[in-house]
Amino acid sequence: MKTCPTKKKMYLSEALAEDALIEARTAYEYPKGTGPIAVYQCDECGYYHLTSKGPINEKLSKYMADGKLNLQKEANRWLDKLKKR
Ligand SMILES: [Zn+2]
Repeated sequence: MKTCPTKKKMYLSEALAEDALIEARTAYEYPKGTGPIAVYQCDECGYYHLTSKGPINEKLSKYMADGKLNLQKEANRWLDKLKKR
């Protein structure tokens, strides 16, 4: 796989990019209005990247609306605590 001129991380499919997007939003605490919110197919490389611009990804928005994201965050916090012991 060649690298993209945008130097962004490449994902082979939209689904993989969406998974990464949700994972990123669960793993990090982004200040309001920052961080990746959507995925898009790149004109340069033909693969998918995450972006902080544009309308929010439908899957992520559902995830947040369901409150799953917060649950996952809580779970990650606990896992971190357990790891640090
Ligand atoms: Zn690209």
